[in-house]
Amino acid sequence: MRTKIAAGNWKMNKNYQEGLNLVLDIQKNTQPSDVLVILATPFLQLKEAIHITRYNPHIKIAAQNCHHEEKGAYTGEVSANMLAAINVEYVIIGHSERRQYNRESNEIIAQKVNAALKAGLKPIFCCGESLEIRNEGWQERFVNNQIERGLLHLSAEELESVIIAYEPIWAIGTGLTASPEQAQDMHFSIRKKISEEKGEKLAQNMSILYGGSVKPNNATQLFSQKDVDGGLVGGASLKASTFIPIIQALENDPT
Ligand code: PEP
Repeated sequence: MRTKIAAGNWKMNKNYQEGLNLVLDIQKNTQPSDVLVILATPFLQLKEAIHITRYNPHIKIAAQNCHHEEKGAYTGEVSANMLAAINVEYVIIGHSERRQYNRESNEIIAQKVNAALKAGLKPIFCCGESLEIRNEGWQERFVNNQIERGLLHLSAEELESVIIAYEPIWAIGTGLTASPEQAQDMHFSIRKKISEEKGEKLAQNMSILYGGSVKPNNATQLFSQKDVDGGLVGGASLKASTFIPIIQALENDPT
């Protein structure tokens, strides 16, 4: 069974107290439902956010990154084991901002996925094409290649712990959104690739999220697509007043 997921990626926003206030606000304004809410806070708030939500099975906390090595001389980095030790359950890996600004290659991303799984974390694996690639029409090949190089070395059993987030780079933080049809086409293509390589049962059970300017006014249409199982939300996850309606749109989605 696929899990419906509304994940918020706060990026480098919210100081310590602002972040905790947002966790409290979201927790206060959400009811138990079939939607899993995941909040990817800065490292700073992880421990306290986990404490605040400890009795709430519908809200989980994620890190936005981890290092691919277990420990060592990597100044400024945080390992997957360190995250697991404070009960973090999810970690975003391969976000396009990290691919771009931190030059993370598919190979490093694959190693991060391995490190996360080894530590018992569930990776939220991001993929997505640039506008140039979409304009040239080979977006599906590009994303399939990211999936192949970042994920397909895993066994079907390991992949059961992975969430995929399709995030076209041209739609992230730009106010441009993929049309529901564009999102559906790509999600279908990703699921087909997983099915061909690892089996239909796994492919049908994997949650594939759409990310790229999801807002309260477009969430319902995006989530209504058959292969869109939820969203990874940046800007609109920074306020309860914009994130809650997105969670509700997913709760009300019958697909
Ligand atoms: C993101 O960074 O994962 C994202 C989708 O951002 P936004 O919703 O702001 O486009």
